[in-house]
Amino acid sequence: MQNNPDVTLITPTAPVATATHGGRAKCLQRLNRLDLPVPPTVALSFKAVHAIAAGQLPDLEAVLSQFDTTALLCVRPSSEDPDWGGPNAVLNIGMNDERFAALTAEMGEQAAAALYLRFVQSYAVHVARLDPDLFDAVESDGAVGLRHSLRAYEDETEEPFPQDRGEQLGAVLRSMARAWEGTSARLLRQAKGAPADAGLGLVVQEMIPGFGRGECGSGVFQLVDPVTGAQQITGRYLSQSQGRDALGPGVEAIYLERDPRGPSLEELAPEAFAALKDHAALMRRKLRAEMQVEFVIENGHVHILDGVRVPRSSRAAVRIAVRLAEDGVISPQEAVMRVEPHSLNELLHRQVHPQARRDVLTSAIAASPGAATGRIVFTAAEAQASAARGDPCILVRRETSPEDVRGMHAAAGVLTERGGMTSHAAVIGRGLGLPCIVGASEIRFQTKKRQLVAPDGRVLRTGDIITIDGSSGQVLAGEPAMLEAAQDESFQTLMAWADAERDIGIRANADTPADAQTARNFNAQGIGLCRTEHMFFEPGRLTVMREMIFAETAAGRSAVLERLLPMQREDFVQLFRIMEGQPVCIRLFDPPLHEFLPTSRQGQRELAEALDLPVSNVERRVDAMSEYNPMLGLRGVRLGVTVPEIYDMQARAIFEATLEASKKGEPVVPEVMIPLVSARREVELVKTRIDAVAAAVAFERGQEFDYRLGVMTETPRACLRAGEIAPHTAFMSFGTNDLTQMTYGLSRDDAGRFMSAYVRKGVFEEDPFHVLDADGVGELLSLAVERARAAQPGITLSICGEHGGNPESIRLCREVGFDYVSCSPFRVPVARLAAAQLAIAAKLGGEPNPKFKM
Ligand code: PEP
Ligand code: MG
Repeated sequence: MQNNPDVTLITPTAPVATATHGGRAKCLQRLNRLDLPVPPTVALSFKAVHAIAAGQLPDLEAVLSQFDTTALLCVRPSSEDPDWGGPNAVLNIGMNDERFAALTAEMGEQAAAALYLRFVQSYAVHVARLDPDLFDAVESDGAVGLRHSLRAYEDETEEPFPQDRGEQLGAVLRSMARAWEGTSARLLRQAKGAPADAGLGLVVQEMIPGFGRGECGSGVFQLVDPVTGAQQITGRYLSQSQGRDALGPGVEAIYLERDPRGPSLEELAPEAFAALKDHAALMRRKLRAEMQVEFVIENGHVHILDGVRVPRSSRAAVRIAVRLAEDGVISPQEAVMRVEPHSLNELLHRQVHPQARRDVLTSAIAASPGAATGRIVFTAAEAQASAARGDPCILVRRETSPEDVRGMHAAAGVLTERGGMTSHAAVIGRGLGLPCIVGASEIRFQTKKRQLVAPDGRVLRTGDIITIDGSSGQVLAGEPAMLEAAQDESFQTLMAWADAERDIGIRANADTPADAQTARNFNAQGIGLCRTEHMFFEPGRLTVMREMIFAETAAGRSAVLERLLPMQREDFVQLFRIMEGQPVCIRLFDPPLHEFLPTSRQGQRELAEALDLPVSNVERRVDAMSEYNPMLGLRGVRLGVTVPEIYDMQARAIFEATLEASKKGEPVVPEVMIPLVSARREVELVKTRIDAVAAAVAFERGQEFDYRLGVMTETPRACLRAGEIAPHTAFMSFGTNDLTQMTYGLSRDDAGRFMSAYVRKGVFEEDPFHVLDADGVGELLSLAVERARAAQPGITLSICGEHGGNPESIRLCREVGFDYVSCSPFRVPVARLAAAQLAIAAKLGGEPNPKFKM
């Protein structure tokens, strides 16, 4: 048999590999090489199992000859990646009437019956495919239960229960091989990333029963806590048991290490406990991972049946990886590769506790991670009032607009009916680190009645408590237990190792001093996008802003803008000071002006009063400014060209703040960015005015300063014409939110309504507002990079759309040759880790973040 790699006894030198026999078979070989007490095991390759599914069994006599003639056997799946699952293990193959009688004499009737009963029931369900309900009526266990179960089997199949070990084994192998090839199993594992033709290996292992005289039983043992990652022996043990019985619900399993809460294996069988501890430490060192050890104790002696990576929470994954590297078991580079970047979100935000019960009302788009509980409020004003009372609230809106930003600041979380990954609520939510769910269209938003109706008919009113889980997209009723954010020392260590490897810069999108501080805390290398319009929603500024919009003449506008100037200047001074010499890229005003005007009659009446105008006048002006397609209308640089006083004021505020902030420390070199450019001439026009403002400020203050003027490249035309725009600009930053919207002709605010259907039907592989579309938008980016660099080799190129924080998109950004990516502050650590993994993978010539394999 040893000459046949497809059916081989696992020995230290047997031809067993993860790619041909699966992870479990390979791990068992490693345990075998470590001389650990592993029972004899035969590995069947993917090829052999495939043949079994097609009806061609291997030489079973040869397989059986590897085991004691009276031994019971078990068969377990061995897929290439443990996450891909596999059919259930079948234990106690070889039990029959004769073994039952022999074992009754050896270990007592109760134990022998338990072994046989388990086999009969799992054979019936998994091999003969009988309905599990068949055994519901079997009330007793022991010999009576066994008799009833055998009768039920025979009545249903009209055949006696098979008694021959070879026949039993053949049937088990066939059923497991076929289960793997079934359609639903295939779809399930494909959803977990398995290729369509992923193979299954099987291992046939001699059973150590876990029942019998002396101390017998089974359990699992690990050297870490799977939730926190702390070094602590965890697991369970149950006398007179097998498989994973000790972990079953309601089982009175005992602790492993001495524990004040109850009896432990350490007290019950100190030698076995000490041996297990040694074995687990050896496995950690040699397999270079924290392992969960599946063991059996037979009359006080330990046997190791299996080892799998300890299943772990994200915070435990970070701690475990860092500790392994600190102990010299793996390298820091390897530690960086072992943590899934997306999973850092769990450390950066509060989460619903993994073991909490979830009362799910609906699921929608998980737009900003973290969980928050609060009372429902329907308006921004209520959110502010609630925050003032110290009462956490969830702001529920059909969709949000800039007018809601203050309410969002006050809320613990946001839920909207409409929108997608880059709609207003989503972008602001991520910027603030505020849990947010958008596109919850299955809930009926009856905002006039101030209530929500969940899909199951439950009605939720103002003041009712809900929880939103912005990591999963679930809206939950009530207040489940939470797990707090945990940026501990291990996290900081891992991030420092990641930064040492990274070869692409990471900046943050930050609009306020608080955002900038978060960006600093997460070690962003500057601000890649400051959306200045958000500053105008501060109290006291909105009315001035509206006054400016209502001014009839350029002179009138300039006069009002004079009042906004000192406020803007102070904003920028603060940003420059917080960023301490790191680059700060300030985008000039971008949104359509009418976003600043009140839409409700009440709001319009209040504005009329503030501006001392007739309401009809206000209504007329608001009407006149409305556009059919505002996102494609008078916004961005088009405002800069047609209403240039706004950009003049902003440029002056930036330059005066530059001089102010440069008084102490290094001189500040601000970056000024023009949004929504689509033609070279737009850049020329705006540049001329901004240069003039810079010259005027330098002259007035008697002090020179440098600044960099750049273009936000977010229209397809700007990408195509990058070659003629680049010579006029120091940098180009790609706004992939608008670029995606315009490339697809897909509204970023409305796409949420049908996005899930589009992804489900495979029209889009992913939401393109979430993961950069490599084919279409990606082609525009490559074209633009090539043309811009050819025209101006020293140009700085970057991305500042939401994709900048998405690991899959960062790969594309690195490939097309961007100098940096910029993303919401809370996504900075995710981006740092993802970028480091890409750099390490490139150095090693492999894939980033390969799932760690045994
Ligand atoms: C973009 O369009 O990608 C962008 C960053 O700008 P905004 O989201 O403000 O339109
Ligand atoms: Mg944009």
